[in-house]
Amino acid sequence: MTPATSHPDGLHVEGIALSAVAARFGTPCYVYSRAALTAAFAAYRDALAAQGMAGRSLVCYAVKANSNLAILNLFARLGAGFDIVSGGELARVLAAGGRADKIVFSGVGKAREELRAALQAGIHCFNVESASELLHLNEEARKLDVRAPISLRVNPDVDAKTHPYISTGLKSAKFGIDINAAFDLYRQAAALPHLAVKGIDCHIGSQLLDPAPAAEAVDKVLQLVDRLAAAGIPLEHIDIGGGMGIQYRADEPAPAVTDYLAPVLARLAGRRERIILEPGRSLVGNAGLLLTRVMVLKSGEEKNFAVVDAAMNDLMRPALYDAYHEIKKVGAGDTATQSVNRWEIVGPVCESGDFLGHDRELVLAEGELLAIFSAGAYGMAMASNYNTRPRAAEVMVDGDTMHLIRRREDVTELFALESLLP
Ligand SMILES: *Cc1c(COP(=O)(O)O)cnc(C)c1O
Repeated sequence: MTPATSHPDGLHVEGIALSAVAARFGTPCYVYSRAALTAAFAAYRDALAAQGMAGRSLVCYAVKANSNLAILNLFARLGAGFDIVSGGELARVLAAGGRADKIVFSGVGKAREELRAALQAGIHCFNVESASELLHLNEEARKLDVRAPISLRVNPDVDAKTHPYISTGLKSAKFGIDINAAFDLYRQAAALPHLAVKGIDCHIGSQLLDPAPAAEAVDKVLQLVDRLAAAGIPLEHIDIGGGMGIQYRADEPAPAVTDYLAPVLARLAGRRERIILEPGRSLVGNAGLLLTRVMVLKSGEEKNFAVVDAAMNDLMRPALYDAYHEIKKVGAGDTATQSVNRWEIVGPVCESGDFLGHDRELVLAEGELLAIFSAGAYGMAMASNYNTRPRAAEVMVDGDTMHLIRRREDVTELFALESLLP
């Protein structure tokens, strides 16, 4: 669940005390573990190797989960490809040293400029989500006199049994192409002169803990792949998306990568197509935490509030999905003046939805540090400047060294792009 371990002087990430991170870089602050990121990537490698698929697979990190350049660069060095959803993410990956020919481009609405930028960069594949996008892409590729490599993102109509906001594989979702309509669309794509049909793609949702829906989706995808091959449209790769869940609660273990992937990969073993995966959360989520300081303790008649210096603008998941994150004190000992209590852990933002944890049993004092766990994915990536709050610093711990990988924003930067009326 966490990259942090207990020590006499409080919680550590690798060889660094979190109190030392706070002393040097202030709070709120995202703290990542290089070792945990590396181990998460290795788990995918091992799961693929266990099925004899190491040589014919590509793990494309879903950049939207956490797009810090240092993290992208680390994954690039480990051999990862990237799954992007915007021209901005394309620019980030290239700036971080990622290889264009290992990039897949997903997303339900890609602008013409984004299509052009990706064609010019020479990405591995466009995951096309509509008939219109096929035509747009064909047109842009014609103007550049190239052929665009494409997959269709099919929607297999399976229930991923996750939060409705992060479930994407149902018929009612805006994502993908109805799998029953995909065969005809593949025929149209194959006839377009500036497209090269390369593969198929499927991503049914996020924070999936049960592999059965993903396995069911793969079964449906494989039927279509075989039907396409028989019709003279052989595919080179099958992209099974991302979505593997992670452990957020201490008492709710999540499956190991190998176990989650086993039934999915078993269906793909022995086939000739290359396999692409697009994990995001499971590569970064439990490699990061959000470090925050208690500013004010406030006891009411019904509830006790611990107001911390991190808020929904720093970590939006609780407000957005009612998500649960474990919260622990960084400091080791409890002093005699404190008593155990149940706390609402809230930020200073002017919204009642601005909470980070409900009803947490903690012994708290003002000024002390808290660690909010499992914050490496969809944490900083979703952060905003709401309430004109500078976004937090990000720090990468590597053994007994800490590296500032994004400095804290300065308030004046937050309105530097704005102008007064004449
Ligand atoms: C978000 C997303 C992913 C990554 O999902 P995780 O749950 O973070 O693994 C992969 N592919 C697509 C198309 C996505 O939109």
